[in-house]
Amino acid sequence: MKLAAAEIDLSALAHNLCCIKQIAPNAKVMAVLKANAYGHGLVTIAQHLQKADAFAVARIDEALALRAGGITNPIVLLEGFFNASDIPILLANNFQAVIHNEEQLYALEQAKLDAPIATWLKVDTGMHRLGVEPQQLNAFYHRLKNSNNVKQQINLMTHFSCADDTKNTKTTEQIATFARLVDNKQEQVCLANSAGIIGWPKSHGDWIRPGLMLYGVSPMQHQIAHNHGLRPVMKLITRVIAIRRLPANKPVGYGGRWQSNKETILAVVAMGYGDGYPRHAKNGTPVIIKGQRFGIVGSVSMDMITVDIGDNQANIHIGDEVEMWGPNLPVEEVASHADTIPYELLCNVTPRVSYEYL
Ligand code: PLP
Repeated sequence: MKLAAAEIDLSALAHNLCCIKQIAPNAKVMAVLKANAYGHGLVTIAQHLQKADAFAVARIDEALALRAGGITNPIVLLEGFFNASDIPILLANNFQAVIHNEEQLYALEQAKLDAPIATWLKVDTGMHRLGVEPQQLNAFYHRLKNSNNVKQQINLMTHFSCADDTKNTKTTEQIATFARLVDNKQEQVCLANSAGIIGWPKSHGDWIRPGLMLYGVSPMQHQIAHNHGLRPVMKLITRVIAIRRLPANKPVGYGGRWQSNKETILAVVAMGYGDGYPRHAKNGTPVIIKGQRFGIVGSVSMDMITVDIGDNQANIHIGDEVEMWGPNLPVEEVASHADTIPYELLCNVTPRVSYEYL
């Protein structure tokens, strides 16, 4: 019997896509599937998001894995391509490339291709990660337009740095900068990630790029999925494998970093950082056993975590299911106990965890 499992609720995935379409009814959806669909399983998630208008991944390998899995939908490479040898792969597989630097543009202009490829031109409106400078945009745009290797429609894209914080004026500035830059170009535009979709309706444009919210997780600071009508897709579960009586003042686990000043009962559960659970989760990070919340105690080890179940010994037994995050325990909450973000927890689930699609 597999102890650690990620149950993936495909009806929740479909529900979240519907929600997204309701929030931005006029925008086409580019569903972001990078990093193994945020840890949910790349090809299966793609198979169940056929109502999306396109998929986006970061790297060519991810896009090739989608094609190998039989996915024929349009695929956008958010990092574009790395060097000239990638360009024929793009053409052969009908991938769309985000162009964000001079080296890519030059390689594309020089390539000997039988047919043009589809491109997105990314402009940096303030994230200062990928994208051409605002003052370079026109030159890049016209060079793409003039290249026989590039399809005539050149979509325009930017990315937000602070959209998860609705009080931060940076996003308004990025939207305004982008609007000014694309004003005279009759092209399709795409700005919004999940936080843009929820928090910044003016950013919806022709296309939206939801990632996290598709998986039923809030992209907004201090909020959970439920606040936006989203349903968590992943439920990460394991089992109780031992129940131990712990005398008062006896340290628990590696480094003996926790002890109780009174006798208590520990449930040892079969999950650790070897499954992707965050090693830095603090004492008191909640888990759910039989509908009750308990806090983890001591260091998270590779395969196990100790949970203080106090005097609940009579209710809890070896073999009981333990929810580490999921519909009853927001991954957003677990992330905040581990000083990280839900994105990282979802992506970090390791192959040792078995995936069950419901
Ligand atoms: N667009 C780009 C360029 C991204 O890098 C990402 C993810 O980081 C997304 C869209 C999706 O973001 P989110 O998961 O916050 O919706």
